Amino acid sequence: MRLICRVPVSRGRRSAARLLAVLLLTGTAACSTPAPQGSEDGQAPAGKASSRRQLAAAAKKWGLERPPLAAPPPPKEKLRPQTPESLDRGPDLIPVFARVPTTDKVVFLTVDDGAAKDHSFLEMVRELKVPMSAFLTDESAASDYGYFRDLHALGVPVQNHTLTHPQMTTLTADEQYDEVCGQQDVLEEEIGVRPWLFRPPFGDYDEDTLIVAEECGARAAPLWTEEAFPDRMEYGSDDAKFHPGDIILSHFNGPHTWGAPITEMLRLVLREVTAQGYALARLEDYV
Ligand SMILES: [Zn+2]
Repeated sequence: MRLICRVPVSRGRRSAARLLAVLLLTGTAACSTPAPQGSEDGQAPAGKASSRRQLAAAAKKWGLERPPLAAPPPPKEKLRPQTPESLDRGPDLIPVFARVPTTDKVVFLTVDDGAAKDHSFLEMVRELKVPMSAFLTDESAASDYGYFRDLHALGVPVQNHTLTHPQMTTLTADEQYDEVCGQQDVLEEEIGVRPWLFRPPFGDYDEDTLIVAEECGARAAPLWTEEAFPDRMEYGSDDAKFHPGDIILSHFNGPHTWGAPITEMLRLVLREVTAQGYALARLEDYV
């Protein structure tokens, strides 16, 4: 892992201690995340049977014809996504990718921003053991970080999506730094984690974005291939199907934005994923 750090005096708000913290955190998996819940591996046969029964009952409760498929064991070593040529910003920057380089029939659910805080969604994630990741923007999430602490306690990693959701390419490097590092500090304070993934709002970024993201502790910048809504999946491929390693984007939205609760979005995701023979897996177990 390359450690980079630009001259600290060029940025007024950085202290030497902060700079040291950035150096120490860069390249380390500093986020303490509870164990994934998606796998039944390691359970005794009786435990597996009861777990399957519970999952079947939960599927019925949440209006699913079939329980979600369990993901295969994640790779022993983390994969190294490469920035595709269409997005290339130079070999020395952290990777930007919309699909994880795996051949497993897994896809990854990522939910952004943090506006709607629906407690039924927590219940659904817990009962159906849904692997997912949350990319939080302070401006949306701040009204109730307790909600996201509860989500994190269910095994959902919390990652960085800036303080105020700006279009990063319109900001100076210093402003971008404050957006990313500022949200690292907030999430450390509120959730107790220091994220290592950064998703730029709207998927827009430039070279400075990737440089500051790495300085703030991110080692990769995942984008997405699909976007999920309560009533439809927008596919990234012409064949309108999932492909191994696809990343699904959705949002903490609800009736105000969608005219439907977020649980309907999750139901649609689980239906489509399962119907195509895929399992949801946790992005952080792969990258
Ligand atoms: Zn967003």
